[in-house]
Amino acid sequence: MKLFTIGPTEMYQNTLEVKAQMVPYFRTKEFSDLMLETDKLLKKSIGTTEASQTIYLTASGSGAMEATVMNCFDQKDKLLVISGGTFGERFEDICRIHSFNYEVLKIEFGQKLTQEMLKPFENKGFTGLLVNLHETSTGQLYDVQMLSEFCQRNQLFLVVDAITAFLCDPYNMDKYHIDATIISSQKGLCLSPGLSIVILSKWMVKKVNQSKVKSLYFDFKDYIKNMERGQTPFTPCVGILYELNDMLKKIDQEGIERHLNRVRVLCENFRESIKNLPISIPNYPLSNSMTPIIFEKPIAKEVFEGLKNQYGIYVNPTGGKLKERLVRIAHIGNLTIEDNQMLIEHLKVFL
Ligand SMILES: *Cc1c(COP(=O)(O)O)cnc(C)c1O
Repeated sequence: MKLFTIGPTEMYQNTLEVKAQMVPYFRTKEFSDLMLETDKLLKKSIGTTEASQTIYLTASGSGAMEATVMNCFDQKDKLLVISGGTFGERFEDICRIHSFNYEVLKIEFGQKLTQEMLKPFENKGFTGLLVNLHETSTGQLYDVQMLSEFCQRNQLFLVVDAITAFLCDPYNMDKYHIDATIISSQKGLCLSPGLSIVILSKWMVKKVNQSKVKSLYFDFKDYIKNMERGQTPFTPCVGILYELNDMLKKIDQEGIERHLNRVRVLCENFRESIKNLPISIPNYPLSNSMTPIIFEKPIAKEVFEGLKNQYGIYVNPTGGKLKERLVRIAHIGNLTIEDNQMLIEHLKVFL
């Protein structure tokens, strides 16, 4: 089996080894120490300091998105949702279900998010912006600097779903004044699914600590309090937290720049290698984590099924209007240039 999917990804050998171990009991000093060490490494790699607070949630990414909106905002806020695909729509759904006051900046497929499109939302009393920095359903990577400046100018809290941006593309929470970052274990981190993490700036921590969220499991105040001693209020996904500690140490040793460079090299090799094939790539800005490829003929489903059934190779299919033409190829996880070339050889059979 070979995964060119964006999550779960082709896991690294070191993660598979940690995963094979017995899951220990966790209300211990040893586990607390592991969590506090993990937290330091995570904050370093995501570009923030000890003043920020981390919430370790046992939930998928969508659970963390919902929990973040519930804890960081209330009915008095006015939210702007950047919606350019299925993950942007998920933020819309969350706002609607929780009866928040929100407006949507809709981006059609193929359209690039620009400064011009933000203009109608300047000075309109918004208090928060929700964005999936890399909209994984289309592959568009938004301009974080542009969004950050918009939020600074208009005094909005900036909430970033960086689930397929962190550890894939350069990301720095403090540099861009990001108030909440959401990440998930099975994507950029290349671990088992089940853990999601929210990192809150000190300003957002202040706001969260004054909030009155109506939830037992998703009350961030409880998580912040418990994390002072390296614990979580409820039983966490202990095994994945060991995978996380191991992965962050590995990345720290390698250096984040070198890690990102490896992803970029693999990505550029893939895009270069398909240039002469009857395949196109969208021309909006893309993340290095993944390449959306559009076939000239409606063969996407056949390619997905064929690669899976004949070769045990997995790529990401896509829903919606382009489901017959678009598949997405991931460049994160334990993949090599040889793997890229092998995939392209198999793709040629369908073309
Ligand atoms: C994968 C992903 C999520 C979370 O999806 P889950 O299936 O709930 O883990 C959220 N946002 C983005 C941008 C993603 O790529």
